[in-house]
Formats: sequence, C-alpha cells, structure tokens
Amino acid sequence: MEIASGIRRIGQGMINSYLIEEAGAVTIIDAGVPGYYGDLPAELAALGRSIGDVKALVLTHGHSDHIGFAERLRKERKVPVSVHGADAALARGEVPNPAKGFGPTRIRPLIEFLWLTMRKGGLRIPRLVEVSTFGDGATLDVPGAPRVIVVPGHTPGSAALHVVGRSALFVGDAIATYAVTTGASGPQVAPFTADRDQAVASLARLEGLEATYVLPGHGQPWTGGVAEAIRLVRSSANPPKG
Ligand SMILES: [Zn+2]
Ligand SMILES: [Zn+2]
Repeated sequence: MEIASGIRRIGQGMINSYLIEEAGAVTIIDAGVPGYYGDLPAELAALGRSIGDVKALVLTHGHSDHIGFAERLRKERKVPVSVHGADAALARGEVPNPAKGFGPTRIRPLIEFLWLTMRKGGLRIPRLVEVSTFGDGATLDVPGAPRVIVVPGHTPGSAALHVVGRSALFVGDAIATYAVTTGASGPQVAPFTADRDQAVASLARLEGLEATYVLPGHGQPWTGGVAEAIRLVRSSANPPKG
C-alpha cells in the first residue's frame, strides 16, 4: 500500500517491509516474513517498476521478522543485502536473539501476531548466507541514499535510516507504534528489546532530525514529528510517578 509518494509498504502494519523508489530504482527496507515475497510484484507494479529494478535490501537490524524473504531475494535476484556490522552475525543466524522473553503480553494481539507469522512462513526463515555491513553515519549508495544513524538497544546494531529526499525516517524497532505482544499503539519501546535503557538513551541520536514520516518495523506511520515520537517513547518508558 502507498505510504507517501515513492514509498510503499508490504503488510497491514503488524510486520512492515518498505519500498522506496528513486529515479526508477528501488530499495527495500526490511524483508518482513518470507511470504511477503509474493506481494513484491504487485507493490513494484504500483510504482511502475518490476523486480529487476530492486537494487538493494537494507536491514534496520538482524531480527528474524525483518530478515523474511532476504535470502531468497539475494539468491534468486542477486540483490545485495546489508545491515549494521554489530548485527551481521544475528542476521546470519549465528548468534541467539539477545532479547530475553516476551515481556508483558495480552493473548489476543499475541495470537494475531503469531498467526500472521505462521501464515507467512515466519516460523521457518531461511538463514541469510551473505550480508554486507555498514557503519554509523554512512550514506548508503543505494536508491534513496539513506543515511545511517545507529541506535543500539533493541539490538546492538539497530540502525535508523534517514531518507531525506522522501522526508522519511525508517526506525526499525528503535521505535514501535504498535506492540505485537500487547496491542498497545503509539510510539513506544518495541517488544523483544535487548536493552531498554540503552534503547531509550539512543533516541537522543535522532533528535533534531526532520521527517514527515517516521516509519517503524511494527505499526502505522507516525506523522507527528520525530521530536514528539521520542518524547512519547520516553514518557511511556518512564511514566511520571505520582
Ligand atoms: Zn526487532
Ligand atoms: Zn521487529
């Protein structure tokens, strides 16, 4: 579905994979679950593009619900996949998920999340065999020229990707606007975050960025500004005592 001019999303908002188009070429940000591969042709067609126009897949971090169809796209279409260096081993499935447990849950949203994951092949995600790495501050030489701002905490190598030309900030799971485990909506720390304190502290690195669209890995787009999103995450993480 269309999010903004030149930006589309696969999925209804529970698990997100984004397409950015620039000058006839496409970058995919995060690969959701394997079954989303079948949705790619229609989303590309809506941009007037086809699978041959996909030049890169950039991962915001190494969690499996962002790896999705990455290996298939890499193997079948020779599309290069990249992630921050600190998450490369996680993306290749060489180290366990640093997050422990589910945190608080509510049964209905959790079942909806697990059901979507199961239906879309998310219980058996092909291991990503090859992934290249980028560092903090890099401007990636891919369509849309995203700039990398590393925001460790959710995972050690979590990165936000700022696409200035589309006024979009892809935050991965550094900020969620929907908690798949509880159904809570609005900007918040994402479930399955390895180090919550570090994740909240890292948001200072996004302060001062301008983006009409803050686009999370889980949940709907946030259009209330980067600063307000950060303020809401901080206040939900540290509710005022009274
Ligand atoms: Zn994650
Ligand atoms: Zn996620």
